[in-house]
Formats: sequence, structure tokens, C-alpha cells
Amino acid sequence: MRGFVLYNSLTRRLETFSPLRKNEVRMYVCGPTVYDYPHIGHGRTYSAFDTLKRWLAYKGYDVYHVMNITDVGHLTGDTDYGEDKILKRALEKKMEPMVLVERMTDAFFEQMELLNVIKPDLTPRASCHIPEIIEITKKIMENGYAYEVNGSVYFDVEKYAKDYTYPEFIGMDLEELEKNYRIEPVPEKRNKWDFALWKRAPPSHILQWPSPWGYGFPGWHIECTVMSAKYLGEEFDIHGGGEDLKFPHHTDERAQAFAAFGKGLARYWLHTGFVRINGEKMSKSTGNFVYLHEATERYGGDVVRFWAVNSHYRRQIDYTEEAMESARNALDSLYIFMQDLEEAGGGSEKDMYREEFVRKFEEAMDNDLDTVTAIKSMFELRNKWYNENLFERVSEEEAKKTYDTLLRMGGVLGLGLDAKTYRRKVLERYQDEIIKMLRDIRDEIRKRKLYEVSDEIRERLKEFGIELMDSREGSRIRFRR
Ligand code: AMP
Ligand code: ZN
Repeated sequence: MRGFVLYNSLTRRLETFSPLRKNEVRMYVCGPTVYDYPHIGHGRTYSAFDTLKRWLAYKGYDVYHVMNITDVGHLTGDTDYGEDKILKRALEKKMEPMVLVERMTDAFFEQMELLNVIKPDLTPRASCHIPEIIEITKKIMENGYAYEVNGSVYFDVEKYAKDYTYPEFIGMDLEELEKNYRIEPVPEKRNKWDFALWKRAPPSHILQWPSPWGYGFPGWHIECTVMSAKYLGEEFDIHGGGEDLKFPHHTDERAQAFAAFGKGLARYWLHTGFVRINGEKMSKSTGNFVYLHEATERYGGDVVRFWAVNSHYRRQIDYTEEAMESARNALDSLYIFMQDLEEAGGGSEKDMYREEFVRKFEEAMDNDLDTVTAIKSMFELRNKWYNENLFERVSEEEAKKTYDTLLRMGGVLGLGLDAKTYRRKVLERYQDEIIKMLRDIRDEIRKRKLYEVSDEIRERLKEFGIELMDSREGSRIRFRR
């Protein structure tokens, strides 16, 4: 048996997954920088890691999942250049920075819930770990891998690269990096690739804390080294994020960890492909940008989740109207299948395709989370049922087993396929229209003086707490419990 195979960005190979502890998986996923509402890219990346977590749970592991919240230190240039994203937005909005952080964090989790993303066990914030960040920074300096200049502390990449590999994940050495990555020079650094562990803050910078090097704030990468090691240990199982984090963020996280502890945090590093919109890179400045709430309002959280998992997590994925509509149609046909299964039975045959379906689904998921093939196997099962009209041939008990199996496998992908919930959702969406339509039909019947029928409808509706108040213009609806 091959077991569960995952693509490890560290070795750039498919590897059989085996956690450090027997039945437990400890995983850290880099969280959002909470200066704005979440976008569709967040929806994709966190749906992917949620699917991984659900698959690990399906396989019997206890998963301990930590995701940080970046509320300080992430600069607009994504390196040591530019302004703090949180501070910049807070000043523009004339808001207290931590009030902005609180609101955007709430908005983030609200959207995640709509996508059926299970909340991590722990969501530590960078700004709540300044003493630990200072401690680790001191340790890295003591070990000779960082230096102070004018109240800022930089990681010494040249020194580090003599002892360890730098960069990682992207299959380049420093020379190639030079040709492929543009970086804004900061004159006080010894070397252009050095990065800040701690930055001096000018007095006008509100987010600042005292440190042995004066007032300042942490660099972006150090928070993840510190918080992942604090809560999961210096060595744990999985560390993930979007593909943009390979360099510099994850490269630098690992460099800091080796420089501080001699260990590199996780054994498996996973990266998700980016979301593009209508075939182009997502960008706020060009307007080619979609907030997650825009998508969930328009299509529903379940459709967005289906769209997200109906592509392999390492591939880039395109957000287009057609893609969303086809996701909605596909998902609806699964919901309809579930409703038909609920009504099925009466025969005596078994569902001879169910086991094969489970086997195919499991095989696909074990193959580096091939959710596309897993979903395909659900449709194969569905097609067999319709083509061979199993609905009438199987027993009620068999239909229920297939229903429960689909519910369970759908759950692994974060799809709630429960027919009752779906019906309730549809009803909720149109409830006002349905009641108004009933009222109008009943008013019409009354106008035609069919009082016996119109009174009967009024009485029946009253039993459900819906009162019709007759007047000359027609009736008014009132609710009474
Ligand atoms: P940020 O909020 O930019 O710090 O990013 C939080 C997480 O979302 C990181 O793992 C990013 O890699 C990921 N992410 C950001 N933009 C996208 C995108 N367009 N597509 C997929 N993932 C993204
Ligand atoms: Zn991180």
C-alpha cells in the first residue's frame, strides 16, 4: 500500500506522509493579513487546507491546527520596504489599527464559515507575541546569524547560506535569485537579501514596542517561526500557505528556525496555486479583484467551496462567471441526486457500485489530494444510478447506505450534501415569495366568491402561524406564533 502521498515543496517530490507522532498531525497554516476583507484567493487557499485537515481526520488522525493572524509587520512591499499594511489602512480609514484588525478578523471567519472551513484550534496574533519574538531574535543574534544596525535587526543571509541552503522551495540558488527576483535595496543592510527580524519605528509609527534595540516592530517572517514553534514545537508535521509564500516568507521562516533552534519547523511544506480572475493575475489596482463576500453573496458559500475544491490545490485556478455557474449546476445535480436517493427503495437489489466509488474516492484523495478525481467518482456513481434506474431496484436500506456514504465523502471535501439542509436553504430563500403567492391565490379564490375554499385556506395557514387579514383591497399577511 502506498498510503497517503503528498507533494512536499521542500523536496519537490511526492512523498508518503508519515507524522512524527503516531495518531496525531500537527499543522500550521499561514493566516491572513487582516487589513481588508478576505478575497477569493483566501477562499481557495483555506478551503484547500480545510480539505487536507478533513482528509487527515477521515484517516483517523487527530489534527492540531494552528493559523496565525498577521496584525503587524507585513509591509506593502512584501519585503522590508514600504508601509505596514494594517497601519496604512487604519490611517486612511481614521481607525484605531487594532479595531480594524478585530473587524477584518471577524469578517474573515464569517466568510470561512460560509465556505464550511472549520476554525483552526488556535489562531494566535502576531502583536500578542512580541516578547517571544524578541527572545528568538536575541537567540538568532547570539548564534551569529543576525546583526543590529540603527535599532533594526537583520538576518545575515550570506553567513546563513554558508551553513544551510538558501533560498529553499523555489529551486534556485542566490545567483539565480539575483536574476529572477527584484528587491528594493535598504542601504543599512550588509547584503541585499538580508531581511528584518526587528525594525526600528519612527515616533509617528503607532504600532511599536520597546526592545533591547529601542522602540520598533517585528519583521513579517519572524512571527510565524515564533508562533509555530511555540504552539507546535520546533519540529512538527505540516506547514502551508499559498505559492507566493515559498519565497521569501517560508524560506525566511525556515532560515530563522535553523538559526535559532537548529531545526526547520515542519517536515512537509504545502503550497496552493493562486486564483486568477478571467485569466489574469488578481490585482486591486487594476480592478481585476473579487472579495470573497461578493462571491458568496452571488453564488452561495457552498458553490464557492465546490468551485475551490473542484480543482487540484496546487494548480492555479480561474474565477470566471462561467466557472461559477458550472460549479452551481454540478453541485445542484448532486443535491438532486441526494433527494432522489431519499425517496428511493421498494426493490431488493444492492447498490453494487458503492464500494467501488469509495475505493476510487479514497485512492484519489490519497494521491496528493486529487479532489478533482474524487468529485468525478461521485458523478460516476450518480450516473450509474440514473442510467440503470437503481432508484426503483434497490431496497430502502441500500439507498440510505449510499446516501450516508455520499454525505460522508462530500463532508471530506467540505460539501454539506444533506438534502434536508438544502431544501431548507431553498425554502428560506423564497419563503416570502411563496407565502405571497399563496395569499394571492387565496384572494383570487375569495374574489370569485368560493368562500368555502378561501376560508379553508385561511384556516390552514393560521395553523402555521400565518394570518390573513382581509380588507377591500385584498389581504394583509401577519405572523403570530
Ligand atoms: P495574505 O492575507 O495576503 O497575507 O495571505 C494569506 C494567505 O492567502 C497566504 O497563504 C497567501 O498565499 C494566500 N493568498 C493570497 N492571495 C491569494 C490568491 N490570489 N490565490 C490563492 N491564495 C492566495
Ligand atoms: Zn507565515
